[in-house]
Amino acid sequence: MSELRINVAMVIPCTEAEGPGKRFGLWVQGCPMRCPGCCNPEMLEFEDRRWASVSEVLAEVLAARDAHGIEGVTILGGEPFAQAEALASLAGGLRAAGLSVMIFSGYTRRALESMRRPGVAALLAETDLLVDGPFVREELDHTRRWIGSRNQVTHDLSGRYAALVGSWDTSPNTLEIRVIQGRLVVNGSPFLMDKLGRLTRLDEGEPE
Ligand code: SF4
Repeated sequence: MSELRINVAMVIPCTEAEGPGKRFGLWVQGCPMRCPGCCNPEMLEFEDRRWASVSEVLAEVLAARDAHGIEGVTILGGEPFAQAEALASLAGGLRAAGLSVMIFSGYTRRALESMRRPGVAALLAETDLLVDGPFVREELDHTRRWIGSRNQVTHDLSGRYAALVGSWDTSPNTLEIRVIQGRLVVNGSPFLMDKLGRLTRLDEGEPE
């Protein structure tokens, strides 16, 4: 049987703005939702980006672990549960290597737990931290780490981060700025809000 593959939009080998500690950031391509103000609109279409096998991505992560001492991987996008089977396989390999798995999903935890699509239950079972729910622009939230809007919640699904539960709701959001091949790449919370309440992405320019 051929190995499952992941449609990869972007990776950052070591980030400290997408979950606890140092993490490998894996952005996947394609999301069925269209939240107004989505911070990654270029990752919404289900179009071919970089298709990588599970073992190829796992090897990239393990190289990042050796180079940067990352403690886990954060998967976001795009919608990770739209590629649930491949990502469940990856997440299993990551946790077998002692790494933690954090996922940002536009679906609520309740919706995911009742979803019957292949791989969804398996991916949830391999997830340590889940940030759930769509981004709601009218409920913008800069006061909680990793959170985009007030409806979203960080769930400790496995207990791995039990000692930290609640701490992420009392520390403000953060962002990182990089220049990669001449392009400004912002991750974490890429939004600024002006005095009129208009959102601007740091790597774009015009208010929406
Ligand atoms: S669920 Fe996330 S990736 Fe999808 S449109 Fe909404 S904010 Fe963007």
